[in-house]
Amino acid sequence: MSDAGSQDPYIYADNAATTPLSPRALEAMTPYLTESFGNPGGIHRIARDAACALEDARARTAELLGAHAHELYLTSGGTESDNWILQGAVRRHRDLHGTSRPVRVITSAVEHHAVLHGCRRLREMGADAVMLPVDGSGRVDPASLSGALDDADREGADVALVSIMLANNEVGTIEDIPVLARISHERGIPFHTDAVQAVGHIPVDVDELGVDALSLSAHKFHGPRGTGALYLRDGFSIPPMVEGGGQERGLRSGTQDVASAVGMAAALEEACEDLEGRARRVGALRDRLVSTVLERTPGVRPTGEPDPHRRLPSIASFICHDVDGELLVVLLDRAGVAAATGSACSTGSTEPSHVITAMGWDDPSWNRGTLRLSLADDVTDRDIDLLCERVPRCIERARLLSGFSR
Ligand code: PLP
Repeated sequence: MSDAGSQDPYIYADNAATTPLSPRALEAMTPYLTESFGNPGGIHRIARDAACALEDARARTAELLGAHAHELYLTSGGTESDNWILQGAVRRHRDLHGTSRPVRVITSAVEHHAVLHGCRRLREMGADAVMLPVDGSGRVDPASLSGALDDADREGADVALVSIMLANNEVGTIEDIPVLARISHERGIPFHTDAVQAVGHIPVDVDELGVDALSLSAHKFHGPRGTGALYLRDGFSIPPMVEGGGQERGLRSGTQDVASAVGMAAALEEACEDLEGRARRVGALRDRLVSTVLERTPGVRPTGEPDPHRRLPSIASFICHDVDGELLVVLLDRAGVAAATGSACSTGSTEPSHVITAMGWDDPSWNRGTLRLSLADDVTDRDIDLLCERVPRCIERARLLSGFSR
């Protein structure tokens, strides 16, 4: 059998896993990796330079989210921010209301593992976690949140936090966060959203969303890996996850990575320039990719929300009948395409993705064949042409080699 295709040029279509550092972010970071290396907690001028750069980066990042600088706490990224808010909300609730009543967190079945596995830790802490179901496009029905809050009332459990992601990392579906947050607030319950896939890709404003807490991660918008933030609305405070020198207003100790904070601010500024224009352009190319792949390949369906206004512009997601997703990704790599099956963070697992199964794909002849192509901001027509040639060919080949139907 001939090889699946030419490798030249290699197309990186795994931007939801991570993005390359933008040259502008690198340039902004370089002084803080070299001459301006000071510890921002110090008193002398080298330390003060670093502290000024850190606070400037915090203010610029916060402003792009419609937040105040003092509401943004730097973290090592989305995973830490998610774990911190989950545990922090439970501990906050107990500090405020005592430990006599059961404590619960409500989230959704399609969250990233940072939240879902984070909930395991809550169970070890004696709290419980309820996962709301989603419909076939991956959306949480606001009525199911109201129902879960009623259940908690009936069962005598206090809900310490509702946490629902803004945009899904596997299928790109955007949840109706303003409505879900309003339902929580009507019962006096704080609301967090994991906006890791959304920030830098669609407009994100903490007031428009109406959230009390929000997680973001720089490497999803061409900033450095290993850096991110947790937004905590003024007046909504949670206990620290790590104790030490009292950095980050005493809530997240550890010497800050000034260069990464500066890189995150520069990358977010760049990502937010003409955000809507870029989203329109990338969305149109994504739509062409999806329709061509569907036209050219039998036994393939799109996954996630069909309404283009309610999904991330950059993610094209599919499910392929009788195809092993891992094998498909290997074949695509050999054919010159970097892609992902299911969540990139769980590659190596042959289990169907929890997102796909929560969306109702329980037939094993379908649900092991998920494919995610996540496009770069600078994706070209030519890239889409090449993807439209390579992807159908690799799906057909993976189907032959997977041998599910034999
Ligand atoms: N939340 C979502 C929705 C994600 O997509 C990811 C990463 O893929 C994370 C959280 C974890 O973020 P990080 O890689 O910064 O720890």
